[in-house]
Amino acid sequence: MKIFYNALSNLHLTKYGIEIPLSDDRDGKIFEFLENEGIPVIQNFSESIELKKEDLARVHNEEFLSALYGSKESLLKAIMDTFELVDEKGNYHRYNPQKAQAPLEEMFQSFLLKTKGTMATVQEALNSGEAFFLGGGYHHAMSFGGRGFCLINDIVIAARWAQKNLNTKLVWVIDVDAHKGDGTAELTHNDPTIKTLSIHMKDGWPLDSEKLDKEGKLNPWFIESDVEIGIPQGEEGEYLKKLGEGLSKLSSLSQEKPDLAIIVQGSDPYEKDQLPSSSLLKLTKEEMLERDMLVYNFLKERDIPQAYVISGGYGEFVYEIYCQFLKKVHNL
Ligand SMILES: [Zn+2]
Repeated sequence: MKIFYNALSNLHLTKYGIEIPLSDDRDGKIFEFLENEGIPVIQNFSESIELKKEDLARVHNEEFLSALYGSKESLLKAIMDTFELVDEKGNYHRYNPQKAQAPLEEMFQSFLLKTKGTMATVQEALNSGEAFFLGGGYHHAMSFGGRGFCLINDIVIAARWAQKNLNTKLVWVIDVDAHKGDGTAELTHNDPTIKTLSIHMKDGWPLDSEKLDKEGKLNPWFIESDVEIGIPQGEEGEYLKKLGEGLSKLSSLSQEKPDLAIIVQGSDPYEKDQLPSSSLLKLTKEEMLERDMLVYNFLKERDIPQAYVISGGYGEFVYEIYCQFLKKVHNL
């Protein structure tokens, strides 16, 4: 399995003055592990992939694109909204510009570079059957803006780019992050060419939001994936069984076999993940490996190309989840 990584695209939030108490060098730690194990990693993918505004326009709406590509102020506002850096009273929230070593607007370039990584991984999966990206998986970004630490939705951007350029018709997105893949669901629920599965904590996400808006319309972050599996707190024992059933259900949704599956392999369901908002789902390290091998083998047996992005996972220990999976698929 070819693995892609670019240290420059690492989203070290503390670098931008965003104050988060958790270790944010997960990707670097996985890279170090792979080097020590002698597993090769491709680092120069960005030159070979062209990412244009029109690729984003297949996913995000015009107003959001004008903010991203408009003035410095409009871009900053889009980023601040995504990371919720300003509270209701207009004060900075978990953000201290004085501690920043890099301007916040640079983060857009970092997201673009990450998205190129997802695209390179998709391209490689289509060529050779499987590929893994140490990055990506911004599944909360919606058509109209970024949300939940995700500025743009690299998953849907890469899927639609492959559909446009790489002879790809049906795409599956299999999202096993602890949080619901709400942005991906919002972006694709009217699109018969992208079928989605999300297995996640039943409660606790989205944070602080009513299901219906003031006009009685469903808030978009509650739109369901094609196969939506919420695991209630304390019912982790059912997780693997429900994931297996979900994969079968995903298969039964269309007659034809997909040309590609993108796996959003969040490690935040791991019991040692340290983010409070993912604490309602706690799988052991062994269960995490079973989860990942269940998806891997399901796709492999059906000869469906698989492209991995790593998505959420917080604190010191989550990198181990990717290491054990990559070790296993490399037969080490
Ligand atoms: Zn997550």
